[in-house]
Amino acid sequence: MKIILLGPPGAGKGTQAKSISNNYSIPHISTGDIFRKNISERTPLGIEAKKYIDRGHLVPDELTIDIVKDRLIEKDCDNGFLLDGYPRTVNQAEALEIMLKERGEKLDTALLIKVPKEFIIDRMTGRRVCTTCGASYHIKYNPTKIAGKCDICGNFVIQRDDDTEETVVERLDIYDAQTQPLIEYYTNKNLLSEVDGTQAINDVFKNICGILGAINSDNN
Ligand code: ADP
Ligand code: AMP
Repeated sequence: MKIILLGPPGAGKGTQAKSISNNYSIPHISTGDIFRKNISERTPLGIEAKKYIDRGHLVPDELTIDIVKDRLIEKDCDNGFLLDGYPRTVNQAEALEIMLKERGEKLDTALLIKVPKEFIIDRMTGRRVCTTCGASYHIKYNPTKIAGKCDICGNFVIQRDDDTEETVVERLDIYDAQTQPLIEYYTNKNLLSEVDGTQAINDVFKNICGILGAINSDNN
C-alpha cells in the first residue's frame, strides 16, 4: 500500500506509523527522522535543516522534495511505503503526485489522524523519542518499560529540542497555514480517510486497520 499520514504535530503519526509499517510490511519514511539523522551526523543537509527545525519552521520545499525523491527510488519502496510528515505543503503534495505518476503509481490513501488542538501541547511536551530508532513515547500515555530506555532497541530516549511549548505553538500555526490545506487537496482527489486520534493508542490502531483493510480490498 502507498499511504501518507496527515495530522497536526503530536497527532500520533509516528506512533501509528511504526505499527502500520510492521502490519503491512512497508517502510516507514519520516522526513523528520531523516532530518534528525542528518543533524546528528552534521551533514550539510542537517546543518541547513536545523536552522528551520529549531525555530519550528518548515524546511524549504526544494530540500524536502529531493530527499523524498531519493528515498522513494530505493528498492524497499517497490511494494509500497508509508510517508509520515510528508507532504506538509501543497507544493510537496504536487511533487509527490508527479513522482508517483512517473512510476505509474498512485496513492491508496491520505489518512488524517484527527486530534483537536487542546490535546497537542500536553502530547508534545511529554513526548520522548529514541535517539537511535526514532520510536516515540510519552511520559504519561506511553511510557518506556525501563525509565529512559527505548523498549525496541534499548537506547536512550530524550526530549526533542523542538518540543518546547513555544516551538509547539509556532508549529501549530504553521500547520494551520501550510499543511491544513492538504485536507481539502486530498478530499478533492477522493483520497482522504480519517481516524479519531483522541482514543488510546491501541484503539486508534484498530480503527486504522479497519480503514486500511477496506481500502485495500476496494483497490484489489
Ligand atoms: P506525530 O508523529 O504526529 O508528531 P507522535 O506519534 O510522536 O506524533 O505522538 C506525539 C506524542 O503523543 C508522543 O509522546 C506519543 O507517545 C503520544 N501519543 C500518540 N498517540 C497517542 C494517543 N492516542 N493517546 C495519547 N498519547 C498519544
Ligand atoms: P516531525 O518529526 O515530522 O515532527 O518533523 C520535525 C521538523 O522537521 C518539522 O517541524 C519541520 O521543521 C521539519 N520537517 C519534517 N518534515 C517536513 C516537511 N515535509 N517539510 C518541511 N519541513 C519538514
